[in-house]
Amino acid sequence: VKAVGPSIDGKRLWQSLMQMGRIGATLKGGVCRLALTDEDRQSRDLFIEWCRAAGCEIRIDRVGNIFARRAGTDRSRSAIVLGSHLDSQPTGGRFDGVYGVLAGLEVIRTLNDAGIATKAPIEVAVWTSEEGARFAPAMIGSGVFSGRLSLENILATRDRDGKSFAEELRRIGYVGSHSVGAPRPGAHVEVHIEQGPHLEAERTTIGVVTGVLGIRWYDVAARGEATHAGPTAMALRRDPVKAASALITRLYELADRYGPDARVTIGTLDAAPGSRNTVPHTVRFSLDIRHPDLEQLEQMDSAAMSLARAVSRGGVTVEIEPVWSSPPVRFDRRCVNAIRSAAAALGYSHRDMISGAGHDSVYLSYVAPTAMIFIPCAGGLSHNEDESASEEDVAAGANVLLYTCLELANSA
Ligand SMILES: [Zn+2]
Repeated sequence: VKAVGPSIDGKRLWQSLMQMGRIGATLKGGVCRLALTDEDRQSRDLFIEWCRAAGCEIRIDRVGNIFARRAGTDRSRSAIVLGSHLDSQPTGGRFDGVYGVLAGLEVIRTLNDAGIATKAPIEVAVWTSEEGARFAPAMIGSGVFSGRLSLENILATRDRDGKSFAEELRRIGYVGSHSVGAPRPGAHVEVHIEQGPHLEAERTTIGVVTGVLGIRWYDVAARGEATHAGPTAMALRRDPVKAASALITRLYELADRYGPDARVTIGTLDAAPGSRNTVPHTVRFSLDIRHPDLEQLEQMDSAAMSLARAVSRGGVTVEIEPVWSSPPVRFDRRCVNAIRSAAAALGYSHRDMISGAGHDSVYLSYVAPTAMIFIPCAGGLSHNEDESASEEDVAAGANVLLYTCLELANSA
């Protein structure tokens, strides 16, 4: 570490991560800590125990978001919030989310050890139910906090077993008394594993995340006529697979045309009735389009619509229906600069990058200056029990978080 000043304790952070990873540990080395389960409760309890030991004051809001506060010296300042999530995918890893929370705690522990006061208070936030694996949608706690999701609707949401969010939040003892969304943070900074392959492949330690791709989801259905695979000559068929495959080819070409940050994903594909020797009557597939620039995302959107019309012929109709969207996010310039400067001062290799995945920071960016720090993860794997990051990179990301936090908490 080149910067003059405190440095986080990488060993302590690593040990905390490994200890937290025992809650909901799976046989293959990952974790299963679905939102509002007993494992979620245990991880919250342990986090609060550690925060109290570090002298923090705990606040819980009505959607179960936890805030651990270290006081500042200037009462007029809003808190610098270091947040992420403790819940996981059913077969998740030991870093996704939990790293951002425990790196925040490590920042507070480090400031305590060094006897450093900050002007703004510092808070570590645990955002409830980020993964969307048990309760839909994803990023619930931060979504309600930002006002983009309704608390009432969320509390009524049920999981696949019919258990409601409200009942389960109460059952684990995390219905807080504080209203959701106040006070607003002075800034929000989240450190996270990249969940992609770029930093590792380029041997770069720190990703300075300048924004998040905008996302549009669609359901596509091509409809023709089911006929026998033998007697019906090719020219006489109304085959929806032909139309769908032409459309899919053109959609991939669309991704090429809109540059390296454009994404086109067909994640589900289904032919009905689904018989080897029958021309299907219907082909359905999901379409996920992403781009960092709103204008270009909208161009991709209308291009997809007209491509669908263009392949609707020969007795086959193709319908494309938008089902969900999230606009591109550009993170706060001052927060991004603070992260870049911290990485440079600490002597870490770093590069600007765009997040392809959604995060709590997307919602936070609507209500507070926000940015994110990425570190490499092995093989780019995430949402996987083999998810892994090195102790050095974990420490580096936390150090960048520390110096970013100090800059934001003390600057004029
Ligand atoms: Zn995450």
